[in-house]
Amino acid sequence: MSDVPTPGTHASASEARIALVIHGGAGVSSRASISAEDEVAIRHDLDRALDAGHQVLASGGSALDAVTAAVVVLEDSPWFNAGKGSVFDAEGRHELDASIMEGHTRRAGAVAAVTTVKNPVLLSRAVMEHSEHVMLVSAGAEKFADTRADIQRVAPTYFDTDRRWQQLLDARALETAQATHTVQGTYFGTVGAVALDGHGNIAAATSTGGMTNKRYGRVGDSPIIGAGTYADERCGVSGTGWGEFFIRAVVAQDICARVAYRGDTIEKAAHDVIHGVVATMGGDGGAIALDRQGNIAMPFNTPGMYRGWVRPDGSRGTAIFPDSGD
Ligand code: ASP
Repeated sequence: MSDVPTPGTHASASEARIALVIHGGAGVSSRASISAEDEVAIRHDLDRALDAGHQVLASGGSALDAVTAAVVVLEDSPWFNAGKGSVFDAEGRHELDASIMEGHTRRAGAVAAVTTVKNPVLLSRAVMEHSEHVMLVSAGAEKFADTRADIQRVAPTYFDTDRRWQQLLDARALETAQATHTVQGTYFGTVGAVALDGHGNIAAATSTGGMTNKRYGRVGDSPIIGAGTYADERCGVSGTGWGEFFIRAVVAQDICARVAYRGDTIEKAAHDVIHGVVATMGGDGGAIALDRQGNIAMPFNTPGMYRGWVRPDGSRGTAIFPDSGD
C-alpha cells in the first residue's frame, strides 16, 4: 500500500492519482434501439459530465465535489432518467430519488420521491451537510428543500419528455396485454458517478427517476446507502438496474465489503456481484466502481450500460455496449 496517497499529504493534484467513472444507466435494450444520431448526443453529454467532474479533480478539488458536478450535468440532460428526462410513474408523475456518500468520513445523504427539486443530488448533499439525518423522503424532503435557498425548484412538468411519456404508454399497453402490472425491464438511464481525488478520498453519487410505471410510492435502490450508492476509504460504487434486486443484494456495499474483507480486486468484486449474486437472484443491471489506486470496474449484465471514465493515466472514454473500448 506504499504507493497509496495518505489523506491530506498530497500538495499537488498533478502528482496524485485521480480517477472518475460515471454511468447513465443500464438497461439499454439493443443496438437497434439507439439511432446513430442519438448515440452521438448521449455520448456528448457523458463527455460533458466527465469534463465537469474531472475539472474539479484536476484542479485539486474533492471527490465529493467531482461526483456532484458530474451528476448535475447528467440530471440536466434530457437523455437520462434523472432530473430532466426522468421516467413517469403509474400516475403519470415524476418522483425522483438520489443519494451521495463520502468514503473517508462515511457521511451520507439521500432523498426519495421528490417532485419539485431540479437537481435531487444537490438536495441529498444538503441533507448530508446541513441536516442531522441521512435520508428524507417525499413531503418532508420538499419541506427541507424549502429551507435551502441554494436548492433550485421547478414545476413538476419540467421533468417531462416525450420519450419518457411514450415509455409509460408502452408499459401501460404491455400491462393491458399481459393483464398484470409490470415494471420489469422498464428502467433506463439512472445516473451515477464515483471519483478518487488527489487526497486519496473517494465519493459516490446516484440519481434517478426510478422505474417507469412504478406505483405506491415505490423507492428503488438509488437513494439507499449500501444498495445503490456506497463509498468507504477503499472503494466507491454507484449502481443501476432493477432496484428491488439491488436492495435485496445490498449491491454497492457488497462490492466494497469484498474489497475490504477479502482483498478482492475492484474488478473481481464488482463482476462477481453483478454477474453472480444479482444475476443468480434473477435481477439485472450494472455498477461502476473504483478503488483507492484508481482502478475502475464497470460490469453490467444487461445488453448495454451508458458509461464514461477517466483513469489515473489520463486515458478516457465513453461506451454503451460491451465491446466499446473499455
Ligand atoms: N435502479 C433504479 C431503480 O430501481 C433504476 C435504474 O437504475 O435505472 O430505481
